[in-house]
This record gives sequence, structure tokens and C-alpha cells, in this order.
Amino acid sequence: MTPTEERVVRAVEALGDEMVAFTQQLVRIPTVNPPGDCYAHCAEVIAEKLRDFGYAVEVFPAEGLPEHTAQYPRPNVVGALTNGGPVLHFNGHYDVVPPSSGWSVDPFGAELRDGRIYGRGTCDQKAGIAASMYAVEAIRRAGVPLRGTVEQSATPDEESGGFAGVAYLCDTGRISSQNQEYVVITEPLDPERVCIGHRGVYWFELTTIGRVGHGSMPGLAVNAAEQMARLVQAFDTQLKPILAQRSSQAPVQPPQAHQPSINLNSIHAGQLPGGWQTPAVPDRCIAIFDRRFIHEESFAEVRAEIIELLEAQGVAYELKDLMRVDPLLGSPDGQLARTAAAAIHDVSNLEASFVVSPGTYDQKHVVRRAGIRECIAYGPGRLILAHQPDEYVAVSDLIAAAKVMALLTLRLLARTGIR
Ligand SMILES: [Zn+2]
Repeated sequence: MTPTEERVVRAVEALGDEMVAFTQQLVRIPTVNPPGDCYAHCAEVIAEKLRDFGYAVEVFPAEGLPEHTAQYPRPNVVGALTNGGPVLHFNGHYDVVPPSSGWSVDPFGAELRDGRIYGRGTCDQKAGIAASMYAVEAIRRAGVPLRGTVEQSATPDEESGGFAGVAYLCDTGRISSQNQEYVVITEPLDPERVCIGHRGVYWFELTTIGRVGHGSMPGLAVNAAEQMARLVQAFDTQLKPILAQRSSQAPVQPPQAHQPSINLNSIHAGQLPGGWQTPAVPDRCIAIFDRRFIHEESFAEVRAEIIELLEAQGVAYELKDLMRVDPLLGSPDGQLARTAAAAIHDVSNLEASFVVSPGTYDQKHVVRRAGIRECIAYGPGRLILAHQPDEYVAVSDLIAAAKVMALLTLRLLARTGIR
């Protein structure tokens, strides 16, 4: 590290308490998705902090998208510290998944205990938003002039596909290969790792079609819930063993995610619409499945394999595609990935590893819609804590990741002649 870099790293440490407090402030705003609670409040808190830090801030509501409503607005916050030169853009999503069960602390209390901040969205990924904002603020407070432009965006809806968030910024041209050289998405993939891609996703909805009848005379009806059970059983006993035989050559983390998977995400049966317990045989059962596929599988093969299996069960069903995202794999040799790895080494003395995320994230939009190849994910959160009860971020990880982001910013923007 140069003396200037060391000065900036010390400035990150000096900002530690402030960064923790800002992370807590964000976690205490329950931006639960679905449905998209408290988005406007959270976006305003981030916008205000960016203004305090000297950014020119714009807010882009996702106009024209059905999910952007008066009750549940979808604002995208973008701040710019413009100095000319190359543009480095940090992006983080401010929506969080519902807390679900199993918590021993208040999921929105942001309790600080034993060097950890607890709460839904700490790791995934409000700590990432705080880390990139304070990384760049440390450079400013250390009085080091930047030789390029830094942008920070905070976006909604990553957990539901990112269409009103990063995809909206890409489709409207705010994020584009003309505007940004580098994009760092501050998702939780562990602070010693650089994430260069993700696996594929296929969400589909299955409906089994039975025939309603009296609950006392099931022999005169067809039970759609039991039909669905047959399909679930077929996935369990026939598809899962096949998937277990396949293995990705990409550096997917955690190791269990080298194999593709299928998960039953939700299931509802009974009289539709609306009813649950009635003295009748259910004529409809609806289930949503989540098939994650590896780089070696194509979407067409994945879907055909499922249909073949369903056809063989002798059950009346309907299949509806809900979401498809193809796998993505960037290069560890890009300027951004290599600079991030070197910064990790210089901060933590560890050899950084390049990984592929088990789940999809907004990188797909940056690469496919905006055509920006220099895009990685890097953030303070630990991958295995995402979406778990008692989710937390370690303060030491938050500070280490902010140091890495500060070095990354200094080094990328010190390059001249790129534009
Ligand atoms: Zn996330």
C-alpha cells in the first residue's frame, strides 16, 4: 500500500462507528419485499446521506412498471461524485426478504452485540450499501482527490428479480456501457471473495386439476392435493437423483451448490378461490417450484426434462413459466476483478478467491441489458447468512470490506486515458 492508501484505510477505521450506525438505521426500516414496504422512506434516508457526502442525487421511480404503485412506489436512488475520467458505479439493493420464523432477536431492531449487527437485511445487503458509501467518504475525508467519477445507486426489488430496480436503470440508459466502466454490486458473497457470475433460475407454477366432491365420499372425486403429492414424489425420487449426478465446473459457492437443484417453494390446495378447510375434496392445488441450473445445463433442456417427467405421471396439470434467468460467468482476468482481488489481499493478507453465486442477482441486468462486462459482486456479508433467521453482519467484515472498496476506488480511478 502507498502512504496515501494507508491514510485512506485509517480514515475507514475512523469512520467505523458512523458506518455501523448508518447500517443500523437502514436495517430498522423494514423494506420487506414482497410487497415493498417502506421503500420511499429508505430511499430518502440513503439519498440524504449521499447529499451529505457531496453527491449530486437523482431519484428515478420505476414509472410505467405495474409494481410501481402509489401504495408501493419503487424509487431508485443514484448519486454521483463527478470528476470526469472513468466511472465506477457501486450498486446495492435496499429491499429485504420477509423475516420468517426462528429469530431470537428483533429482525428489525439492528441490535449490536458481540461485534455483530443483527437484523433482516444486515448481510443481504444493507451493510453493503453502507460499506461502499463510507469507503468513498473515507477517501474524501482523507483529503485525497479522486481522478475519476464515483456513482452509488440503491435500488429496490432485487429479491423479486430487480425489474423495477437495476433493470429499470439499465433500460432507461442511466446504467449503460456508455456511462459506466465498472460496476460493483455489494451483495454478500464473503469479504474475501470476488463474485464473477451466478447460476441459472427457472421458477414455474404447477396446477393440478382434480374434480370437486364431498369430503365423505372421496371415491367420487379427484383430489388435486393428492395429485400434486404424486408430482412432488416424482421430483423427489426421479429428478433429484439425476441432478445429484451433475456437477458444475464453475467455482460455485457453497460447494453443495455445485449440483443443480429443485425446491418446492410454496403449495396451496383447497377450494379456490379463497377457501381452506371445507368438507370437500380439493379440485385445485397450486405449487411453485424453483429449479436452479448450472452453466453446463441449458434452459431448454431443463424445461424439457421437467415436462417429460410430468407427462409420465398420469396427472392432469398446467405448467406456467414464472421466471427464467440464464447462468452468467464473467472472467477473473478483468481489470475490476483483478483490482478487487489485489485489494482484498492488501487489506486482509488473504488470497482472494473468485466465486460464482448459487442464486441470481442484479449482475444479469448490468451485463445483459447494459452491456457492461466489468461487473462483479463484492460486499461485507457472509453468503450462508443471507435469508436466514438471526442474520447478521460482523462489524469487522463491514470495516474490512469498506477498506477493500476504498482501495479499489483509488486504484481503478487512478488509471488515466481509459475514456
Ligand atoms: Zn441480496
